[in-house]
Amino acid sequence: MTPLIVGNWKMNGLGASLGEFADLASLLTTGEPPRCIVAICPPATLLSQMADQGALSGILTGGQDCHVAQNGAHTGDISAAMLADAGAQFVIVGHSERRADHGETDDLVRRKAVAALAAGLTPIICVGETEAERDAGQAEAVVGAQLAASVPDEAASHEVVIAYEPVWAIGTGRTPTNEEIGQMHGALRARLVERFGDRGAAIRLLYGGSMKPINAREILMIDNVDGGLVGGASLLAKDFYAIICSV
Ligand code: PEP
Repeated sequence: MTPLIVGNWKMNGLGASLGEFADLASLLTTGEPPRCIVAICPPATLLSQMADQGALSGILTGGQDCHVAQNGAHTGDISAAMLADAGAQFVIVGHSERRADHGETDDLVRRKAVAALAAGLTPIICVGETEAERDAGQAEAVVGAQLAASVPDEAASHEVVIAYEPVWAIGTGRTPTNEEIGQMHGALRARLVERFGDRGAAIRLLYGGSMKPINAREILMIDNVDGGLVGGASLLAKDFYAIICSV
C-alpha cells in the first residue's frame, strides 16, 4: 500500500507559518514526486487556507480532533463536518495529549472516529503505552486493549488509519528500538486481521514518536510500518520534506 506521512502541527502555527507550508509545497512540486501520500494537520485556524493551498500541490490536510456531534451547543469544540467543510480529508482522534489533557477514553475516541467517518473523513486513531506500562511488560496488552476499544466496527467497511505512538517517545527524542516497533506493529496487524480479515491487512499502521530525518528511513522500512505521524519535525518544511523523501 502507498505509505502515508502525516504532520501534526499540534498547537503551533500562526498565519506566518503558511510560508513554511508554501515552502513544503514548492519542494514537493519541484522535486521528484513523493512515493507517499502527504498530509498536514494544522491548528483549525489554518486549516481552510492550508487546504486551499494544499489542493494545488497534492498535500492533504486534517484536523487534530473532532467532537462526536455534527453541531450543537458545544462551545469551543469543532465537528468533523466542519473540518470536512474546511477542506480536510483526515482527522486525528485519541492523540495521547488529548487522552491526557482532556481525559479522553477509548469509548469517546471510538465515537469520534465514527463521527469522522460519517463526515467523510478518514480518522487517524492513536494508541500507545506510557513508559511505566512498557517497563511493566504491559505495552502490547495496553495498546491491544486501546485498539480493540478505540477502533469502531465501521473499519470493516470504511478507511481508517491507526497510529502507534508510544507516549514516552512523543517529543522526547527517544524512540523504541526497531525491533520493538516491528514487534508492536506486527501484534497490531495480527489483531486487525483477526477482527477485520483481509480488510485488517490493508489498514495503514503509522509509527509516531520522535520520527526525524535521521531515523525516518530505518523506521519506515520496518514490516507493517505503513507511514509516520510526525510532530515536531513536521514544523519545518526542510525536515518534513526529508522525512517524506525517506519513503
Ligand atoms: C505526535 O505528537 O504525534 C508526535 C509524533 O510528536 P513528535 O514527532 O514531536 O514526537
